[in-house]
Amino acid sequence: MITLAIQKKGRLAEKSLELLEHCGIRLKNGSRDKLKAASVNFPLDLLFLRDDDIPRCVEDGIADIGIVGDNVVLETRASVERVLPLGFGKCRLSVAVPKQVPYADIRSLEGKRIATSYSNILQDYLDKTGVRADIHPISGSVEIAPGINMADAIFDIVSTGSTLISNGLKEVETILESEAAIYRHRGLGPEKLAVIDKLCFRIQSVNTAKDYKYILLNVPNEKLDEICRILPGMKSPTIMPLGDAGWSSVHSVIKEDTFWEIIEQLKAAGAQGLLVTDIEKMIL
Ligand code: ATP
Ligand code: ZN
Repeated sequence: MITLAIQKKGRLAEKSLELLEHCGIRLKNGSRDKLKAASVNFPLDLLFLRDDDIPRCVEDGIADIGIVGDNVVLETRASVERVLPLGFGKCRLSVAVPKQVPYADIRSLEGKRIATSYSNILQDYLDKTGVRADIHPISGSVEIAPGINMADAIFDIVSTGSTLISNGLKEVETILESEAAIYRHRGLGPEKLAVIDKLCFRIQSVNTAKDYKYILLNVPNEKLDEICRILPGMKSPTIMPLGDAGWSSVHSVIKEDTFWEIIEQLKAAGAQGLLVTDIEKMIL
């Protein structure tokens, strides 16, 4: 039995629950008004916490694993082990300055006041680069700090950059690329590690499947060779005769990012009746 801490409410909360659902893990009391929920079909208890509290809870072993952003783990400086990145909750932590202020490189921050809610990550970076600046820790609305003369620069989470622009700031330095990941307690025994492996195996199957599509198409037999060359697939495609003599049905798996290009080539090569479906799980 393992205890997994996830965010109670916020950007990672829904995605974390959705991921568990796609892994076939059902919860006894789906309600999140409580602090805890148990799974009915997997040896897992859930703890719902504020994301800032998750790294410490995992470090202390109150939870065995947690789903939390890399940014939060680094900021809390918790001693936990990163097990698996999850591909959601992506963001970056960047330095921004007022747009009219010239900026060459990190040394431009020497002696400057920087407002942030990520003091530790910023301090570590400044130490590493040998820059001395004055860090002003604030807990929210960091982007307004230069406008009210509280700071010369800010260090904050950026996702699209539109908040920066609307506050007259420009992004000048990215210090961390972050995403949600599974982190685990360092001192776990073999039974718990085995359950975590099982969970990670399911997560990887779900996440890999998202990058691929299953494709079915009808092909005149004389075009089969050409079509099979176009289809990259995991292995060679499945080919089955159709009821209509001279035609075959071809099944394959293709990567989402090359999808449209391949579809066009298949059509040009004479494929007909193309069907494309999502793949729910994929085990490589
Ligand atoms: P909590 O109440 O749990 O403390 P929070 O307000 O600190 O929540 P959220 O805003 O829900 O946190 O963000 C949670 C995580 O989502 C962040 O720590 C970060 O890893 C990730 N994230 C991704 N994109 C963004 C973004 N544009 N702004 C803020 N966080 C983001
Ligand atoms: Zn938080």
